[in-house]
Amino acid sequence: MTQAPPPWEWEFDWHLTNRCNFFCEYCHPQIRHVLNKKHLDEPPPALVVQRFDALDKVCLVHMSGGEPFEFPGFVELCAGLTDHHYISINTNLTSKDITAFAEQVPPARVAKIVAAIHQPERELRGLELDAYAENYLILRRHGFDVTALYVLYPPLLDRFAADLDRLKTLGVDHVRAKVFKGVHKGVRYPEGYTEEQKAVVLAGSGEYPFNRPYLDGMLAFRGQACTAGVTSFKVTVTGDVRRCASVPTGYGNLYDGTFQPAQVNQPCPAKRVLVLSQCLSYLVEPPELNDPANDADDL
Ligand code: SF4
Repeated sequence: MTQAPPPWEWEFDWHLTNRCNFFCEYCHPQIRHVLNKKHLDEPPPALVVQRFDALDKVCLVHMSGGEPFEFPGFVELCAGLTDHHYISINTNLTSKDITAFAEQVPPARVAKIVAAIHQPERELRGLELDAYAENYLILRRHGFDVTALYVLYPPLLDRFAADLDRLKTLGVDHVRAKVFKGVHKGVRYPEGYTEEQKAVVLAGSGEYPFNRPYLDGMLAFRGQACTAGVTSFKVTVTGDVRRCASVPTGYGNLYDGTFQPAQVNQPCPAKRVLVLSQCLSYLVEPPELNDPANDADDL
């Protein structure tokens, strides 16, 4: 059976804000220590909507940061973008605007909401898991495709199963748990998981299909033809458009209207990829996965 083509022509992975109300230990160091302190002057929602509309392509805009709901006028932005485009969001689901979002944004135009749990930060801030589940269920009831995300940071592996059980009792029915990518105690992950830890990761992956290839070391596609830069792009917090999360080749700026895509697919130059799901979506001839999925990854 062939899969129906998606209703969008171009994809954007947009780092729309550096603001975040959390300070997760496992956040990417560049985001945690550098980005969160600068470039906090986001463009007005109407300008961004205008820029995407001017591309004259139906787009899927993946929104992450920072915490997307911290973008000033985020609900207005989502409502405007979904008039002509599709969106997906990576959020920690703590915003007071979840209900307004659910009421003002059409679920049929939201490809996915990935709602990260970040339990240590929640506990530090006295944010009950019940409140997370409440927001999760608001989105579910309104018809959104929402999945809980648990980052398998090595110090959390011992408590992961208990947290998962608690989430289930609270009605959180879709969970994905993904490998930690980064350095902990001098060890680089995902390569650094022990065999025992790998078993925990694979047993608890839930709906997330990319842990196996990460653990198998599928981390480079150098020289292979890829559509990134032609039909899919990374947008930084300043509006600069790049090829993808792993390749900084520039294509102008989305906010100031100078964005110009490449016309022809180029070979991948990356020695090591940061977001595997992007590669598997954008490579001209992606390798087969045992459990392929079309969902966007989350950084
Ligand atoms: S294969 Fe991956 S890292 Fe390489 S250009 Fe494509 S999306 Fe970027």
